[in-house]
Amino acid sequence: MQTTMESSNYMPTLLDERTEELIRQFRQHFDGVPTLVSAGPGRVNLIGEHTDYNDGFVLPVALKRDVRFVLRPRTDRLAQLYSIEFDEEGNFDLDAISFNRDKLWVNYIQGMVQSLEQEGIRLVGIDAVFSGNVPRGSGLSSSAALEIGTAHAFLAASGQEGTLSGARIAQLAQRAENRFVGVNCGIMDQFISELGREDHALLIDCRSLAYTLVPVPAEAALVIGNTRASRSLASSAYNERRRECEEGVALLQQVLTDIRALRDVTSDQLETNRHLLPENVYRRCRHVVSENERVLATVEALRRGDLAEVGRLMNASHASLRDDYLVSSPALDAMVDAMGSVEGCYGARLTGAGFGGCAVALVKPGHEQAIADAVYEQYPKVTNIWPEVYTTKAADGAQSMALPNP
Ligand code: ADP
Ligand code: MG
Repeated sequence: MQTTMESSNYMPTLLDERTEELIRQFRQHFDGVPTLVSAGPGRVNLIGEHTDYNDGFVLPVALKRDVRFVLRPRTDRLAQLYSIEFDEEGNFDLDAISFNRDKLWVNYIQGMVQSLEQEGIRLVGIDAVFSGNVPRGSGLSSSAALEIGTAHAFLAASGQEGTLSGARIAQLAQRAENRFVGVNCGIMDQFISELGREDHALLIDCRSLAYTLVPVPAEAALVIGNTRASRSLASSAYNERRRECEEGVALLQQVLTDIRALRDVTSDQLETNRHLLPENVYRRCRHVVSENERVLATVEALRRGDLAEVGRLMNASHASLRDDYLVSSPALDAMVDAMGSVEGCYGARLTGAGFGGCAVALVKPGHEQAIADAVYEQYPKVTNIWPEVYTTKAADGAQSMALPNP
């Protein structure tokens, strides 16, 4: 967590128009004023797709888009929450948490609270109004943003900020989503939402959970294209891909006896033992093994400032996801093609699980609008869908701070 107060170049980034608007809404909704603000950002993964559940590497950045809470601690154990986007209240008692079938968004909050308390953190109730500008259900992880924003809302209200490490909070948020909400997500989203840093990507080793900040050079901007296409195929394919990867590991273990996951296999070892694998399994393994190598190569290229190479690696990642892992779609390919058609685009790829959701492009600053124009011009012709385009830079992770007295 970045405690805004503690950073040396103190920048009250949470005191902007969105927070002002939330404060206005809070005053309308509750008597009095909020005393705290918290935020959890969404994320985009630069490279390293479908590597997390193979114990591999990912390289996400936090977005300048977040789920944000303004709140006031209560003296009892009641949570009174008002969601701006859903225009509804979701109240619960911290001592009587149970799954809410009618208001699914409340479960992300209840799950996070339960997860923190299971860790031995005693929380107080809160009155809160919250709102997000991370598009929901588009693969930019509005769910992790909501969980992490929630964690810091309750920790700040309870005087417990700083009690847990950022990595631990991320694990507790993942546990909330896995066990309480019932979504089988990996650790990447919560990790980057918690630990992101402005102008940096975060290399995460999904086996050890070791992480390293990697500077993103100033000559690199990010453009995200939201296909707004259905992701309905994503979950069944996700489960099938996981099975294929496990099958690959089991077959390769006949000769590579000390491997535990595809993370432990090199491209050379995979080629040498190709005859052991059915063609589909070989293709899935080739994606994962080469993608892990591309993540590490991307980190090196970013450190050298070689953005052309980063772009090439992103393009190669997309081709591998499309041709070997079979998780792209006509909409994602059209998005990536439109982005890549513009001068100033270093590279582009689908990001997230695939089949829909978003693509991300690395671009020269100043060329963002040209890329957005190309997407709005070309993408609807292929898909008949009107897309959305967001420009962003790598942003800070979770924050909370006291609001100044009105
Ligand atoms: P993604 O994480 O890719 O955006 P998910 O399906 O995992 O998509 O999570 C989306 C869900 O998270 C929403 O359906 C909603 O329940 C919850 N959520 C996200 N953002 C908000 C918000 N601003 N307000 C209320 N609920 C939200
Ligand atoms: Mg999600």
